[in-house]
Amino acid sequence: MPDIIQLLPDSVANQIAAGEVVQRPASAVKELLENAIDAGASEIQLIIKDAGKTLIQIIDNGCGMSDTDARLSFERHATSKIRKADELFQIRTKGFRGEALASIAAIAHVELKTRLRENELGTKILIAGSKVEKQEPCATPPGTSISIKNLFYNVPARRNFLKSDAIEMRHIIEEFERVALAHPDVGFTVHHNNAELFNIKSSPLRKRVVDMFGSKYNERLVPVKEETAIVAVHGFIGKPEFAKRTRGEQYFFVNDRFIKNHYLHHAVAQAFDELINRGSHPSYFLYLKVDPSTIDVNIHPTKTEIKFMEERSIYAIIHSAVRNSLGKYNIAPSLDFDQEDIFNVAPMPKNLEVAPAQTKDFDFNPFNDGGKTFEKDTWPSGNAGSERAFSGSFPTGWQDLYEITRTRDEQQPLFDRDGADTFPEKETENRPVFQLNKKYICTTIKSGMILVDQQRAHERILYENALANLESQGGYSQQQLFPQTIELSSGDCELINDLQEDLHRLGFTIDNFGRNAIVVNGIPTEAEDIPIQGLIENFLEQYKHAVSEVQSNTRDRLARSLARSLCIRHGRKMQRVEMLDLIDKLFACSNPQTSPNGKPTIITFTNEELEIKFKA
Ligand code: ADP
Ligand code: MG
Repeated sequence: MPDIIQLLPDSVANQIAAGEVVQRPASAVKELLENAIDAGASEIQLIIKDAGKTLIQIIDNGCGMSDTDARLSFERHATSKIRKADELFQIRTKGFRGEALASIAAIAHVELKTRLRENELGTKILIAGSKVEKQEPCATPPGTSISIKNLFYNVPARRNFLKSDAIEMRHIIEEFERVALAHPDVGFTVHHNNAELFNIKSSPLRKRVVDMFGSKYNERLVPVKEETAIVAVHGFIGKPEFAKRTRGEQYFFVNDRFIKNHYLHHAVAQAFDELINRGSHPSYFLYLKVDPSTIDVNIHPTKTEIKFMEERSIYAIIHSAVRNSLGKYNIAPSLDFDQEDIFNVAPMPKNLEVAPAQTKDFDFNPFNDGGKTFEKDTWPSGNAGSERAFSGSFPTGWQDLYEITRTRDEQQPLFDRDGADTFPEKETENRPVFQLNKKYICTTIKSGMILVDQQRAHERILYENALANLESQGGYSQQQLFPQTIELSSGDCELINDLQEDLHRLGFTIDNFGRNAIVVNGIPTEAEDIPIQGLIENFLEQYKHAVSEVQSNTRDRLARSLARSLCIRHGRKMQRVEMLDLIDKLFACSNPQTSPNGKPTIITFTNEELEIKFKA
């Protein structure tokens, strides 16, 4: 048989490499902006036509290139930024792989004009599909101008898969924002189809954020600063009251490079923990400076993922830096004076402070049954800490409530994270609610008042939600930016393997079973803020316990275990909206009166009972 292996021609190799480096116009924008930054530019213009599908042009006033360098810059692995392997660990530039221009030139028509400051003339190169078509001297200002036309002209599959202009443009802006935030000292203009989108001057960081996201940001930012031997952190966090329901502006930069890091994100989210509602996201702009030899940037072609040698310490430092800032700017009095507050009274909306008692809005209250149905014998009261299983039937009339909330909840997962939005404002704004001993939620009903055990109630909600997911297509899964590998005993790995299908329905995406490890790609949305390793371990523990504890089927055990791993614990301070949300969702359950293992979730004090007590 003849030899059959051949080396691929450069143009093909480049096109293959391009697949990794340039997925869409925004990736080319990122690479070219970074080249301009690396060239030391202080002014950069970005000109886009048709969301980058027709033209991406970047003009910089950086160092420019000589004739030979200009030609060489399009070769694969051609870079001026590193020379030997050691330097891979001392990287201070954005680029170093020498792939971007070669990749872009393989899949587009490229025109480069560049001039060294000391030369009178520059050079112009036309290149398409990796082939240099022309190089000639030209008159051009010092610096570099590069135009990318007809991106993916020779890769129809990629071109056809490009999204609408609006979406591609959003990606471009996102890349631009990352570079512009990383380099506030550089001025930028951005034009799309002749409209000016940005024109921002070199400025201090705060001004840069305000220039990019609007003047309202000025009052929202709180400075963060912390210097340690391992890492220096500076930047801003958004005040908790401006936290958003959608993940908004959340930026980490390491040595002026934008990075994504789920683990470090968690450090910030944790620091905000009780200051913002579940389901809201704080904004932050945090800049870390570390010794380049303690990070590895070269783990992915796009270089937005990096590995830290001191990840744990950096986590702790970021966490404490953010907490300090929240405390220092008196945003978090509860952090400064963490007294044992027995009554955690959630603040009422201002205009209602005077008369928070029952008003006509209360008539909606699903608990509203005129007190007739809360029969004492079916509805035990006063046994709050009792561990005795509760078997009383739920008062008639709660079905009405069930009807009301059920229809509303049908369109949404039972316990979605944006709970506060699931009911119209008027229904909840007047309802008095407070937390007692960080354990019980107290609120009124027409016939008196109730205490809800926060942990048991949440367990009930999560349990029914999980059961519903197991019976249907499955729940919502939060895909992880960085799949996490977790080491487990081989027995646990096997258990997970056996439960794989049901776990998927619950929102876990787990794969790559080794004998001793699993890879977690996604977790149930409700578990978003919980560290994955602990979550999985706790969940398995609960499951194994449930096997011995109760006679039930696998799905029931899974649902119980998940509910127990995820539920809000006693001792956790809750915000007003969370409490209202919890109560409404509890009453949307088919069996709200008990926790999954039969303990009471609610106790009631009827008006009659109170009358009797006061008469005594
Ligand atoms: P890398 O940035 O990883 O070195 P690129 O393919 O992006 O690889 O660029 C190759 C080389 O071309 C760079 O190392 C640099 O020397 C040169 N170069 C690219 N863009 C510019 C620019 N705007 N100004 C000056 N030199 C540039
Ligand atoms: Mg580059």
